[in-house]
Amino acid sequence: MQIPLLRLQCGVNSYDWGKVGQESAAARYAATTAQAGFSIEAEKPYAELWMGTHPSLPSKDVETQRTLLDLVQDNQALMSTEISERYGGRLPFLFKVLSIRKALSIQAHPNKKLAEQLHARDPTHYPDDNHKPEMTIAVTPFEGLCGFRPLAEITHFLQALEPLRNLIGSQAADEFERVVKGNEDSEDEAIIQRNKDALRSVFTVLMESSPADIETACRDLVSLAENSPETFGTLPGEVETNPTNPAELAAIIKRLDGQFPNDIGLFVFFFLNFIKLEPGEAMFLRADDIHAYVSGDIIECMASSDNVVRAGFTPKFRDVPTLTKMLTYSYAPIEEQKLQPVSYPYAILNATAYSSASETVLYDPPIEEFSVVKTDLNRTGAKATFDPLAGPSILICTRGKGKITVGHKTEEVREGYVFFVGATAECIIENTGSGEGEDDVFTTYKAFCELTGKEDMVNGH
Ligand SMILES: [Zn+2]
Repeated sequence: MQIPLLRLQCGVNSYDWGKVGQESAAARYAATTAQAGFSIEAEKPYAELWMGTHPSLPSKDVETQRTLLDLVQDNQALMSTEISERYGGRLPFLFKVLSIRKALSIQAHPNKKLAEQLHARDPTHYPDDNHKPEMTIAVTPFEGLCGFRPLAEITHFLQALEPLRNLIGSQAADEFERVVKGNEDSEDEAIIQRNKDALRSVFTVLMESSPADIETACRDLVSLAENSPETFGTLPGEVETNPTNPAELAAIIKRLDGQFPNDIGLFVFFFLNFIKLEPGEAMFLRADDIHAYVSGDIIECMASSDNVVRAGFTPKFRDVPTLTKMLTYSYAPIEEQKLQPVSYPYAILNATAYSSASETVLYDPPIEEFSVVKTDLNRTGAKATFDPLAGPSILICTRGKGKITVGHKTEEVREGYVFFVGATAECIIENTGSGEGEDDVFTTYKAFCELTGKEDMVNGH
């Protein structure tokens, strides 16, 4: 029987928001296993490395040059028959590396039911009927927008920032403040619902602003950011905003305006949490959660789907009515947007791994399509042995060097190398670095799918 370990050749695409040339981790990783003729161009943006079976940019087996899609359809045991049947012979997830120089569109992904409706109504803009939960893990420091801010922060900005208040109009702003004042932290279901309705109204008013009004408001806001950044701050004893430092906030506003002049996104910023992730920190986006990525290199894992409802920071199709209707309007502090990794119990570390504080951690979002394990092997000779999984895995190395063994097959691993590991195979990875210097860590991320009976908890079902 063929040993289910394949080194993959993965393509990188070149959207405008990608990091440029060698700056882009996505490009550097792609170059390690490139097709003949690929070289990184110094001036070109490289945005996303795709690892999986998606037909738009399918990964290939380096050895045979057959696509992974072709291989898993030919041999269902590679994914397990159960997963193969459930997902129509495709990998349940798409694994990516994103290198972000410039903000990506403000967006949300429809739940399963809405995805079906949108696809039926407008298949050009909504190309499939699947939901698209996604998870982000920072590889370098990351900035993004995710979920609505706590209500007191929104109220602060509505009061402090004249251009924002002018754009929305005093009447809508006052109405919002009247409803939420004193109720910001209530845990009463009825009050929370009333707060969400108020947030929906004021946010919808904002999103329906005319282009001329947005242009005026952007000019005034950027002028505030340039001339009086202290306007963005709060007074002692008032609620804190994120970021807390008004100079930092003003700098972000100027940066975003430079990237997308006269864009409503500049004002959406004051409604959403500004989130920073350090390498290894993660966030999970449920269906209908509003978000935008602003900068950094990340690992992203998502259900295989293409459905995005966009509303700002984008030259692409915007669907404001659908977006303002679909959002959950949940509001919460930043810490609640993050996904905390937990210790992963199905890998055994050897003595060198233990003594060097190596670890394997699991990012396990509440969906069936994927989970991700991160492994840091901190010293040469440190080794992790993974129990066989009842499903497929894709592994990428983001740092250091090592080797991977499945059955009798061993392959060397370098930064950017990507491997497919078939179902039911035991997999061993080991740090083979030089052992010199402190920074000899070997880091891999492994996405996998295993059906564990939590299928019925899926969002939107
Ligand atoms: Zn998204």
